[in-house]
Amino acid sequence: MSSPSLDELIQALTCLPGVGQKSAQRMALHLLERDRPGGQRLQQALALAMEKVGHCQRCRNFSDTDLCNICSDNSRDDSLLCVVESPADVLALESAHAFRGKYFVMLGRLSPLDGLGPEQLGLDRLEIILGEDTVKEVVLATSATVEGDITANYVADLAEHHGISSSRLARGIPVGGELEFVDSGTLSRAFAGRQQIK
Ligand code: ZN
Repeated sequence: MSSPSLDELIQALTCLPGVGQKSAQRMALHLLERDRPGGQRLQQALALAMEKVGHCQRCRNFSDTDLCNICSDNSRDDSLLCVVESPADVLALESAHAFRGKYFVMLGRLSPLDGLGPEQLGLDRLEIILGEDTVKEVVLATSATVEGDITANYVADLAEHHGISSSRLARGIPVGGELEFVDSGTLSRAFAGRQQIK
């Protein structure tokens, strides 16, 4: 390699999902040959995000501040709490404009074999929210997988302990499908057709 710096850039880019050696090479050469301002912007955005983005102390979604924009938005309905597995799910539901309540992001789903129990999913924090007496319905938007089902039932039991009913998004979501890959129309219909489970 004529340039160790170029080589390092290519290797660094392969950390991105779906980016192998060939794509990484193409990206690095593109930035150096054609778009150095784009490269500078990418550098700054990356540095800023890595430094600033943490987790909301209430819902666990990504946030620059202790309380994220959604949790601090008073125009949203506090009585509806949608429990999802990942920040990508929140992005999908928000872009579908299907939901005007608040969220709780578990950052995973129950999977004892992978060491993911209630504690890792922040369910103790979820219980504190459920104990505040503002939430009237928990909407479970976990994935249509075995672990997603188990997680949904577990959270529905927690809600029931607090006298709160739970519903689950209507199917229409492909089995094993992650919410982020479901189109907006299907998500809106899944929300409208959610069914009470407890
Ligand atoms: Zn939040």
